[in-house]
Amino acid sequence: MSAVAGNIARIRSELPAGVTLLAVSKYHPAETLQEAYDAGQRVFGENRVQELLAKQPLLPPDIEWHFIGTLQTNKVKHIAPFIHTVQSVDSPALLKEVDHQAARSRRRLRVLLEIRIAAETSKHGFSPDGCRALFRNRQADACPHVCIGGLMGMASFTDNREQVRQEFRALRTLFDELKPLAGEAFDTLSMGMSGDYPVAVEEGSTLIRVGTSVFGERSIRH
Ligand SMILES: *Cc1c(COP(=O)(O)O)cnc(C)c1O
Repeated sequence: MSAVAGNIARIRSELPAGVTLLAVSKYHPAETLQEAYDAGQRVFGENRVQELLAKQPLLPPDIEWHFIGTLQTNKVKHIAPFIHTVQSVDSPALLKEVDHQAARSRRRLRVLLEIRIAAETSKHGFSPDGCRALFRNRQADACPHVCIGGLMGMASFTDNREQVRQEFRALRTLFDELKPLAGEAFDTLSMGMSGDYPVAVEEGSTLIRVGTSVFGERSIRH
């Protein structure tokens, strides 16, 4: 078994039923993604449009691609034809553009709303109140080509486990609050990375985004 296959098997064996492993393949070459695919992995995440566009044609068509990085509105059109989920929708303007490009591709695109939960101010995302306002104002009704599938967040980079836990818990609480206002499809709480996914799973994550623990250190640097 390859190292990547072993990592995937080990992480899967730790996850409760109903928690999806998304393999964050940024900065790894297509051959490495293929190893993960051959080990049964089908859900992959990338955070740069150019890199995703370079790799996607080299890999099998049944991969479920998630976009997890900062997305400029003028780049949405490039990924709209094939992306499964845009996890990093962090503004009403981006939501509108995803809707527009989904319509042009004659698709309905799944998005997650990225929520700023970390103490660091550099992180992207809606504030919890900004996200509440989006539902209160029924802004998604104006976007019939998107389906809001849930929330995504990144905890602070800190050794303080208790702080990380509190940030995940706050996101879970917001998720539970919004669920009755959102549609049936609102079922995904994307939280947890290599360094903190066990805590995220304890706090109710349904999808973990794991790069380093699946693929090892990133090989291509930017
Ligand atoms: C890179 C990245 C991850 C994965 O990080 P690892 O620490 O390598 O597991 C998860 N989520 C986002 C948004 C990322 O950019």
